[in-house]
Amino acid sequence: MTKYDVAVVGGGIAGLTAAVYAAKAGKRTILIDKQGRFGGRAMSTVKQGVTFNMGGHALYFGDAYDTFRELGLSLKGSKPSIDAHGIWKDKCSVLPTGAGSLMATPLLTWKGKMELAGWLAKLTKLDTSRYDRISLREWIEGNVHDPMLRNIFYSLLRTASYAAAPDLQAAGPVLKQFQAALRGVLYLDRGWGTMADELRELASKHGVRLLTNCKAVSIEHEDGAVRQVRCEDGTVIEAENVIATAPPAALCRLVPNAEATALARWNAQAIEVTAACLDVALRKLPEPKRQFVYGIDRPVFLTNQSRAARLSDNGEQVVCLIKYQSKETDAKQDLQDLEHTLDLVQPGWRDELVVKQFLPKITVCHDFVHIRREECPGPAVPEIKGLYVAGDWASHGELLVDAATASAKRAVRTIPKIEQMKEAAL
Ligand SMILES: Cc1cc2nc3c(=O)[nH]c(=O)nc-3n(C[C@H](O)[C@H](O)[C@H](O)COP(=O)(O)OP(=O)(O)OC[C@H]3O[C@@H](n4cnc5c(N)ncnc54)[C@H](O)[C@@H]3O)c2cc1C
Repeated sequence: MTKYDVAVVGGGIAGLTAAVYAAKAGKRTILIDKQGRFGGRAMSTVKQGVTFNMGGHALYFGDAYDTFRELGLSLKGSKPSIDAHGIWKDKCSVLPTGAGSLMATPLLTWKGKMELAGWLAKLTKLDTSRYDRISLREWIEGNVHDPMLRNIFYSLLRTASYAAAPDLQAAGPVLKQFQAALRGVLYLDRGWGTMADELRELASKHGVRLLTNCKAVSIEHEDGAVRQVRCEDGTVIEAENVIATAPPAALCRLVPNAEATALARWNAQAIEVTAACLDVALRKLPEPKRQFVYGIDRPVFLTNQSRAARLSDNGEQVVCLIKYQSKETDAKQDLQDLEHTLDLVQPGWRDELVVKQFLPKITVCHDFVHIRREECPGPAVPEIKGLYVAGDWASHGELLVDAATASAKRAVRTIPKIEQMKEAAL
């Protein structure tokens, strides 16, 4: 049996990134995933020549973008225009995103427009770290004066962070993400699956052993140090270090006596964010000007990703709708709400429909930076030498996929150098 320096459990973006960096650092690395292919929630699927992500995905110019650029990924795609609309009281109106639309919008009074103009000038320079310890609601209520502008801020910041939890979200990281959003985002040609595929190829090129359909059932440790990963099919992977990227609740089941470790605390403090996603491919848009729509009085968002990315063979427009869910969810109601949004924004869309995808409840992130958090998870599990965590939930302030890549790199950086590992083993 080969003994690995690093075994990575879970081959989503966090696991793929961790495996590539570990292998580049000269570590004998294996990456396993329980599914038939790598990518996790960054997988894409093709239906009738149309590429769907697992719900609408945009790459911000944050840690993930910088990481993928550093690794030489192609990241083909474009920045969408930010001309936006907003839904308020069942009406779709122009939303102010620049000087022209600021004057045109019926949503704000003159006073509100002036206040927004002030925010557009100063938001990018805001020191967001000052607001790391207060909730998003506290920040909005304390800083934004015009009542309608407050509603618009709730909507913009919910969309940037994917979480409809202003009483819990720490304001600083969300504002930082919004600053990144103001620099634009990338919609990727052929979807996020291309990114995962390129990472997998890179991992393979650097000598990572890649196993799919391989589900870890136990991450075993002895005398305070990690020993091996046991898999459902009987495979046993001996490793000096394990980087675990499964969700915190799953990790508590995988690691014996997890209740006596930090994993239990990280799991207890985790708050999951979920969404309902309806993606439709339309032959053409009945209302071509409405391509980017925020729900102001409801937690929904619509974007036509085809305006910036190639996602179909025959020119279909791939429109993604998201409903940001709270704790209680109702799949039937969520689908109705999303279809109603589409009726409002793109009336007649049913006549143009080619193919659709509905995901009633998908986890956007297993945890985020919220004000009830006692500590940032990882990278090391202090009670078990050689055990590290990564994933979008192991955030130290980053959001979404930026948390996945940043935590993966933190884990690899924390693993001792091979020479130190050998000395310790003697
Ligand atoms: C609808 C939606 C929209 C999103 N939009 C954006 C966006 O616009 N911008 C952005 O930055 N991020 C976005 N995200 C978030 C982004 O997709 C995630 O942050 C990222 O894909 C998470 O990667 P991960 O590796 O942490 O987790 P995952 O992708 O969940 O990977 C974990 C992997 O571990 C595997 N695994 C679990 N348990 C085991 C086991 N026991 N044995 C072996 N393998 C196991 C799973 O099969 C999975 O492949 C969105 C997410 C969703 C759902």
